[in-house]
Amino acid sequence: MCSMNESADVIVIGSGIGGLTAAALLQERGISTLVFEKNRYAGGSCSSFQREGYRFDAGASVFYGFGDNGVSGTLNLHTRIFRKLGIDVQTIPDPVQIHYHLPNGFAVPTYYDRHAFLDTLAARFPHEAEGIHNFYGELDDVYDILSSMPAGSLEDVTHLLSVGAANPLKTVALALKSFRSMGKTARRYIHDEELLRFIDIEAYSWAVQDALSTPLVNAGICLADRHFGGINYPVGGSGAIPEALCKGIRKFGGRICYQSEVAEILVDNGKTYGVRLVDGSEHYAKAVISNATVWDTFNRLVTDARYRVEENKFMRASSWFQLFLGVDAAVIPEGFYVHHVLVDDWKSYNKLGGTIYFSAPTILDPSLAPPGKHIVHAFVTGEVEEWQHLERGSNAYLEAKEAFAAGVIARTEKILPGLSKAIELKVFATPQTHERYLNRFKGSYGPLLKPGQNILQKPQNTTSIKNLFAAGDSTFPGQGVIAVTYSGVSCASYIARKFGKPLDELL
Ligand SMILES: Cc1cc2nc3c(=O)[nH]c(=O)nc-3n(C[C@H](O)[C@H](O)[C@H](O)COP(=O)(O)OP(=O)(O)OC[C@H]3O[C@@H](n4cnc5c(N)ncnc54)[C@H](O)[C@@H]3O)c2cc1C
Repeated sequence: MCSMNESADVIVIGSGIGGLTAAALLQERGISTLVFEKNRYAGGSCSSFQREGYRFDAGASVFYGFGDNGVSGTLNLHTRIFRKLGIDVQTIPDPVQIHYHLPNGFAVPTYYDRHAFLDTLAARFPHEAEGIHNFYGELDDVYDILSSMPAGSLEDVTHLLSVGAANPLKTVALALKSFRSMGKTARRYIHDEELLRFIDIEAYSWAVQDALSTPLVNAGICLADRHFGGINYPVGGSGAIPEALCKGIRKFGGRICYQSEVAEILVDNGKTYGVRLVDGSEHYAKAVISNATVWDTFNRLVTDARYRVEENKFMRASSWFQLFLGVDAAVIPEGFYVHHVLVDDWKSYNKLGGTIYFSAPTILDPSLAPPGKHIVHAFVTGEVEEWQHLERGSNAYLEAKEAFAAGVIARTEKILPGLSKAIELKVFATPQTHERYLNRFKGSYGPLLKPGQNILQKPQNTTSIKNLFAAGDSTFPGQGVIAVTYSGVSCASYIARKFGKPLDELL
């Protein structure tokens, strides 16, 4: 626990990856930080939790940004941040980002090897071979641009001018691409309806939106970098990332206070000067970064109604129903990939519960489970409204969870026959669980752009309240561990320059 009256240059509300990244970079630069986290542990949607010898990923399990292929710019950010902090994070390369299992027996693994992936896709759609190469080539162009532009804040004029001066053509190209969607770009080259559905699931699997609603620039990061920097799983599970960031913060003298819920952001005359915790203690700072969602920040933590954000100002992504299973290792066959996405019917892939996300991280890191066991982590979209008529902890709630999970397990048996009989431990999380443990409005995956909006319309790090900043997936560029890491970097770089101590470029 932290003491009652601690203050710092910068207070960070929440220890999600966005908040921790900002805190670590500021602290390393000599700007003192104090992180308040409601939970007993760090990481939010990227934390781990333990149960009966298993260590489960609470949410994220597909990780970009750990490549070490010499590429910098806005890529390989985890590698470069941990290098800066002098903290070692071991990772294991994953040969396949996702193995898709789609209607009509269409299955394709997205191999790290770009040629193997494109050849597999072209073998299924030989009439679209050229379109496939052209479309994925567009994503590579975005990747090329981003790999030469240093990460920084788009609100920082000095940063923008220096990037623009050093890369004039690439800056213009990126600005033009930022107005384009992944889906419209795909339709320039591809006409086959089934292949266009595949492009949709390529977007949906991380953006929870179809390709037309997904910015091309975001797609360029995820769907190109998987073939360059690659997908790498941290040894010890997702929680190893926040734990390493916390280590970095402490190494440079920063503080992380757990079980410390912020009840209010203190605002006077349009300017924040600190926070009040639920225990009544007040803590003061020159700047406050909120790592909570935009709805939690402005409708709960800021009490002045003039700053309210209507729920529908953004499209709210749904929440999740998750299954964390400990299973007999024999159920996972030799050569099975770690991450899978299952769609039974294209009509319902983007409806609640329509797509199953699956991972078995023990294939890469067996230390996460007792000997002879594997982890199966599966989840589908869900909404708090579907569960709120049931009292948490009641028999009816428990029975409804069991029944819902049994349906997901039965569908998953399509790729893992015998799964239901191999289970020895089950933990289920409803959207209510997400609301409670992730401390996110309605347990939501976060705000999404509305169809037709471009990526630059995503809120940046400054807010309508002076000295109050935001980092995390409510800000540019959006959801995903690597995306919120970028948001933490850009937030720290903006604040550091304001403090007269600009961040060094991450090498
Ligand atoms: C089921 C699921 C699967 C996912 N899979 C992937 C994946 O495979 N790959 C990927 O890259 N991304 C994935 N994501 C997305 C990714 O995990 C998130 O986008 C990212 O981790 C969000 O980080 P954040 O910085 O916004 O903070 P969050 O993770 O939202 O953390 C915010 C923290 O702030 C704390 N907090 C909130 N309010 C307060 C308060 N008032 N006082 C104190 N503390 C507070 C919370 O307790 C929490 O710890 C997944 C997410 C989920 C839910």
